[in-house]
Amino acid sequence: MPGFELFGDAERKEVHDVLDSGVLMRYGFDGMRQGHWKAKEMEHAIQSRFEVNHAQLLSSGTAAVSLALASAGIGAGDEVIMPCFTFVASFEAIIMLGATPIIVEIDDTLTLDIDAVKAAVTPKTKAIMPVHMCGSMANLNALRAICDANNLILIEDACQAIGGTYDGKALGTIGDLGCFSFDFVKTVTCGEGGVVITNNQKYYTNADHYSDHGHDHEGSDRGAETHPFLGYNFRISELNAAVGLAQFRRIDDFIAIQKKHYTIIRNELSNIEGLTFRTVPEGGEESYAFLNFFLEDLDTARKVSHSFKDNGIDVCFHYFDNNWHYIRKWDHLTTQKSLFPLSKELKEGLSYLKGKTFEKSDHFIGRNISCLIKLSWTEAEVIQRAKTMAALIRESIV
Ligand SMILES: *Cc1c(COP(=O)(O)O)cnc(C)c1O
Repeated sequence: MPGFELFGDAERKEVHDVLDSGVLMRYGFDGMRQGHWKAKEMEHAIQSRFEVNHAQLLSSGTAAVSLALASAGIGAGDEVIMPCFTFVASFEAIIMLGATPIIVEIDDTLTLDIDAVKAAVTPKTKAIMPVHMCGSMANLNALRAICDANNLILIEDACQAIGGTYDGKALGTIGDLGCFSFDFVKTVTCGEGGVVITNNQKYYTNADHYSDHGHDHEGSDRGAETHPFLGYNFRISELNAAVGLAQFRRIDDFIAIQKKHYTIIRNELSNIEGLTFRTVPEGGEESYAFLNFFLEDLDTARKVSHSFKDNGIDVCFHYFDNNWHYIRKWDHLTTQKSLFPLSKELKEGLSYLKGKTFEKSDHFIGRNISCLIKLSWTEAEVIQRAKTMAALIRESIV
């Protein structure tokens, strides 16, 4: 997955353009910038590659998720349904707006469980936010149907699945809004960065203004611009955008490498009895950023995970025991540890989490091993790794 593995001359060249002009900001300074608009260029590249009308590049993926929600008018007292297996950024982005994350079970897709989503809809629900974890997507047709029936917005957190598709469309373009992260460990990196994409003109305009202190971006005198509504600063710098622009141009190569490595390992593991792969919803194609598989029980998964670690198979995660990605370790959320007072709505909204259990998700996450697919491996290394993994799994199963 990490695009940084292939950082090179193309990235350096784009950064040098910015350093040569000295204009590190994405807006204004038209005369000084020698024709370089890296953030704008990257937005256009994203729009064209994903066949989507609008892209707003931002300072992070977390900002992208928050901005997607804000652009659709979601805030205090509103509920957003999201999965219990995701990076903490997903709920951070919701909480930042004062909205309440309603955290529900996942299934063998490792993304939102459709029945759990249906059961979680209340009159306060404003949006459903699937997270396409570890390179593969939620059942988007089913989620779209729930959204349509209840007048809800569908927001895709596609931060870990850039390049994946569903029904032939790019992930991130199927919901009303979609989000990607370009942080340092994502498939495409800006160092730090993110993007909101949408076909909705209003949401785009909102995201454009909101991410730059509410500036309306009319005319060419920044100081004279008006502010139709309150905003913040989630701008990306031209330096970060320059790196991302070079990286994004290589996305097809990156996905092809991921697919090749993923396929070698998957084939090697595919005839191990007691091992099954994660379910990919019908019509979906993964981004191949990770290979995910299930073992028969929690003990076996723990054994395999330890055996991988002891034998040099790195970047494979057993999220059940991992600090970051699963609700079992989100005590700071469930006990509401905040530096500053949270609003009454949010405190009350989060109170359902005290003592809540996620048995169905435990069943899947407990048995899951998730292996990152690196770009920098040689083919020989991948083949060797696949063989070692298969042998270690077989050893742990008996
Ligand atoms: C990386 C990530 C984010 C946030 O991205 P940052 O750019 O690190 O803020 C959000 N959601 C998921 C699922 C992620 O993996």
